[in-house]
Amino acid sequence: MKSVAGAAPIGSPARQAWSVAVRGVVQGVGFRPLVYRLAARHRIAGWVLNGERGVEIHAEGDAPSLRAFVAELQANPPAAARIASVERRRVAVEGFAAFEIRESERRETPSVRVCSDLPACDACLRELFDPGDRRYRYPYVNCTDCGPRYSIVRGLPYDRPLTTMRDWPMCAQCAREYADPLDRRFHAQPVACPQCGPAYALESAGEGVLRGYDAIVQTAAALRGGAIVGIKGIGGYHLACDARNPRAVAALRERKFRKERPFAVMVRSCAGARELVSLDERAEALLRSQARPIVLAPATADLDGVAPGNAELGVMLAYAPLHHLLFDAGAPRAIVMTSGNRSSEPIAYRDDDARERLAGIADALLVGEREIARRVDDSVARAGAWGVTVLRHSRGYAPQSVAELPAGDPILAVGADLKNAVALVVRGQAFVSQHVGDLEHLDALDSFKSTVAGMLALYEVDAGAVTVAHDAHPEYASSQHARTLAPRLRAVQHHRAHVASVLAERGAFETPVLGFAFDGTGYGEDGTIWGGEIFSGTLAGGLQRVAHLRSARLPGGDAAARFPVQAAAGFLLAAPELHDLCDFEAEPFSFPPRFCQARELLEKNVRTFATTSMGRLFDTAAALLGFTRPITFEGQAAMWLEHLATQAPGAAAYPFPFDGRELDYAPLLAALVRDRLAKRDVRRIAAAFHAAVARAVVAACDALAPERVVVSGGVFQNAVLNAHLHERLGERLWTNRSVPPNDGGICLGQAAIASFPNVEPA
Ligand code: ZN
Ligand code: ZN
Ligand code: FE
Repeated sequence: MKSVAGAAPIGSPARQAWSVAVRGVVQGVGFRPLVYRLAARHRIAGWVLNGERGVEIHAEGDAPSLRAFVAELQANPPAAARIASVERRRVAVEGFAAFEIRESERRETPSVRVCSDLPACDACLRELFDPGDRRYRYPYVNCTDCGPRYSIVRGLPYDRPLTTMRDWPMCAQCAREYADPLDRRFHAQPVACPQCGPAYALESAGEGVLRGYDAIVQTAAALRGGAIVGIKGIGGYHLACDARNPRAVAALRERKFRKERPFAVMVRSCAGARELVSLDERAEALLRSQARPIVLAPATADLDGVAPGNAELGVMLAYAPLHHLLFDAGAPRAIVMTSGNRSSEPIAYRDDDARERLAGIADALLVGEREIARRVDDSVARAGAWGVTVLRHSRGYAPQSVAELPAGDPILAVGADLKNAVALVVRGQAFVSQHVGDLEHLDALDSFKSTVAGMLALYEVDAGAVTVAHDAHPEYASSQHARTLAPRLRAVQHHRAHVASVLAERGAFETPVLGFAFDGTGYGEDGTIWGGEIFSGTLAGGLQRVAHLRSARLPGGDAAARFPVQAAAGFLLAAPELHDLCDFEAEPFSFPPRFCQARELLEKNVRTFATTSMGRLFDTAAALLGFTRPITFEGQAAMWLEHLATQAPGAAAYPFPFDGRELDYAPLLAALVRDRLAKRDVRRIAAAFHAAVARAVVAACDALAPERVVVSGGVFQNAVLNAHLHERLGERLWTNRSVPPNDGGICLGQAAIASFPNVEPA
C-alpha cells in the first residue's frame, strides 16, 4: 500500500470522495490494476474491488484529480474490457491515506458480466517463443489481457477458487506475479507456469503417452503424416487433420459420420487465411477480433472435401497458445479443426468422455490437464457491407450481455429445439449462453439442461422465482423442460421471437416496425407450419401477424425438410395454376420416386400439413434447379441455391406479387419452371429467384409503408438475399447484430417478449 501525497491532504476542505461504479465486461480483464495505476498517477486514495455488478471504486482527492482519473479510466480501458456505463456520486470523505485493491465483496445476486474467453495476447506470444522466458513453449501461458475465462468459471465473482484452476496451487514466482498490482499477471486467475501448472500429453493407442513439448511436436508430425488427432482446446475437443490432405479429410468425414457439412479450417495468421479465402477489410477485422470466430468468406483455394459445393469457406486464426505452438512445431499450414464429436452430438470437453467418444475417430488424443468447466464451441460469423452477422454465438461471445430489457424479475428463455441457446435476464441484462445444438440428440438435451442449470447457478437465480419463456410448439423438448422448471411460463410464438430478437438488440421497445420472419419451420398460432410471416407492431405493444407467404402443402410435415423434392411436390401441387406446367419426373427435372410418393400423400390428404414456410420455398427452387437428392445437413439446399446465385449477379427478378395479405409464390415458380424448360442457365435462374424474394419484401414494405423494417429467421443468413435488401432498403433495415438470425437467436426474442408481461399474443 503506497501512501498518497495528495494536493488536497486529508482534512483539507478541497478534498472530495467519489463513489464510482463501472458496469460492463470489467472483471477478469485487468481492470483493477489499471485503476490502481491511474490512482497512483492522479494521487487518488481509496480502494477498488470487484462487486456483484461490476467494479466499485471509492476515490478521494481534489476535484480536478478525480475528474482526470475518471476521464482517463473511461478513455483507456483495458483491451478486453467493454464499459457499459460509469456512474459516479459524491460520498462522505473517509480519510484514506493510500489506494488499495480490496477483496471481492459478496452481498447479493451477481449480475456482473462474465468475460468471454480471450485469444493469446502479443505479450504472451512473445514469451511463448522466447527461449529465455520461464514460460517458453508453455501451452497454458496467459495474463490479464488474455486466456480462458467463461470456459473455466464455476461461479462468481471471478476468482481463482471458483475456476477450474483451483486445483493448481501457484508456485512462489507465479504467486508473486499474481499479487503484484504492477505485474501483467496481477489477479490473472488462470496464471500458471511449467513448474506449477497443468501440461499437455499425447495419448496414442499402442504407443503410450508422450508429455510436455514432445507431445506437441509429435502431434504436429502426426498431422503432417495424415493422421486425425483429437486436440483439447479452450471450450472442448477439436478433431484435426491436414486440410490439404484429401485422404485425411475423407477419413475424418467417414469416421465422424459427417457427409457434406463444411469443415472449418484453422490457420496461423491472416496471411495464411488469404491463401484460402478472399478477405476484405471487414472480414479481416472480424477474423482478428477478440472473439476469434470462424469467419465465412469466399473460398479461393480448392481444398478437396473440406467444404464441398460451397462458395464460402470457414477460417479461423490460432487462438489458444497451444495452436500457435502446433503451427510453430511444423503442423500443416491449414488444419481442419472441427468439433470433437460424432455427427451432430455435442462437442466432447471432458477427457474421459473424449477418450470414449473419439476413440473410433481420432488416431491420437492431445489431452490437456486444465479442466473445462463447460463446453463452448467455436463461434461462426460473417462480415457483410452492413456489418457483422453472428451465425453461431459461442466462444468469444458467450455469455455476454447482448441487450438491456425492462424486466424486473429474472426471466429464463429456453430457446428453440434446433440450434438451441438459452438466455437469462438478470436485472435487465440479457445474457445469452453458448451454442447448445439440436435437442433431438439425447446428449444435446442433457447439455441443454445443464446449460440452463449452469446459467441459473452462475447468476444465483432461483429456478422457482423466474419466469420461463419457451417456444409455443407443444412438442419441443425445450418447451417440455420449461414446464418442469417453474410455475410461471410464457409461451412465445416462434416467428414473433425472431423479430423481437432484433428489436431487443436495438433496445427498440416502442418503435413501430414491419417485421419479416422467414425460416424453415416454426409452430404457428393456427397449428400450421409457419415460416414466411410478416408482423406489424411494437415489442412493447405486441406484434400482429398482418401477412404471410401464400399457404402451400407439406406432405410428411417437418420430415419433408430433408427432401427438397417433397417440399417441391407440396408447393407445386398446392397451387392449381401450376398443375399442368410439365411432367416433373421427366427431363430436365428428373425428380426421383419420392416426388411421386409425396404427390400420392397430397392427393389422399394423409400426413399433409398446411405451411407458409419460406425455407421450403427455397428447397422447392433448389429441387427445380437440380438438387433432387436428400439433404445431409439443415439448410444445405438453400446454401446450394445461394452458391449458384453468386455466380450470376444482376439477374432480373421473377414476379413475386404481394396483394396486401399474401406473397404469391405461384407466378414465381411458373416463371422459374418456364426458364428451366427453356434451358436457361441455372445460375441466372437462381439469381432471379433470390432477386424475387428480395423484391417481394420490398413490395410488402411499399404496400404497408413502415418507417422501420426488421428481418430475421434462418432464411436471412443468405448473403445474396441480404445484399439485395440492404441495397434497396438501406438504413430502414434492421438485422441481427449480436445473436444469430437463425434459431440460435430465438431465446433473446422470447426473453424480450416475456419482459412485457401484459401483452397477449396478437
Ligand atoms: Zn496475455
Ligand atoms: Zn508457477
Ligand atoms: Fe426459426
